[in-house]
Amino acid sequence: MPAAGSILPAAVRAGQMEERRIEGLWDCAYCGRKAIKARYDACMSCGRPRGIDTLFYLPEDLDAATLTQEEKAKTTNAPDWLCDYCGSYNRADIFRCTKCGGDRTESKSDYGMLHKLTGILFGRKD
Ligand SMILES: [Zn+2]
Ligand SMILES: [Zn+2]
Repeated sequence: MPAAGSILPAAVRAGQMEERRIEGLWDCAYCGRKAIKARYDACMSCGRPRGIDTLFYLPEDLDAATLTQEEKAKTTNAPDWLCDYCGSYNRADIFRCTKCGGDRTESKSDYGMLHKLTGILFGRKD
């Protein structure tokens, strides 16, 4: 076992302080596939990207949907932003559209603005 040094206690403290993050689900409007995880921006059945009108909802089993520390590190609390050029969603920590290379500063919309969500927990609009 290598010595963890001072890294481990800091990581444990941070882990205890962080709120739990729950991954929302969405349904494909095209083929009807249900409960696609929020991390996927396209339907795994028909391959179509989730549209701008897609609403996320919380799964019934919140414990099962709570992200692990490892998964949390790959997600962000900030809402995805919408590329004005090609209409793709991009993660909040990405500054150029992954599909067309469009600049984020040119984009005026993000998922939180469009659906009035905080991004911490995705829920239905009302
Ligand atoms: Zn589909
Ligand atoms: Zn784009």
